[in-house]
Amino acid sequence: MVKVSERNSSTTCIVCGERAEDARIKRGLFVHCDKVFNADIIGAYNILQRYLRQTAASASVSVVVGALARPAVTRF
Ligand SMILES: [Zn+2]
Repeated sequence: MVKVSERNSSTTCIVCGERAEDARIKRGLFVHCDKVFNADIIGAYNILQRYLRQTAASASVSVVVGALARPAVTRF
């Protein structure tokens, strides 16, 4: 099991990475970088990214030798 913090996950923009508490203009909507997202999707995506970064970091040290690190940024 991998524990990942959910802190600020629903208020961090998935496009620019900026923490934007005022981007939730209505319940369930996150608006930033001229884009509108479902706030739950923002939270889930950020938690997934944290998990992937956390597991990739530990895997690259103990298992993967000579491979490139997996990119942590996804563009939409
Ligand atoms: Zn943004």
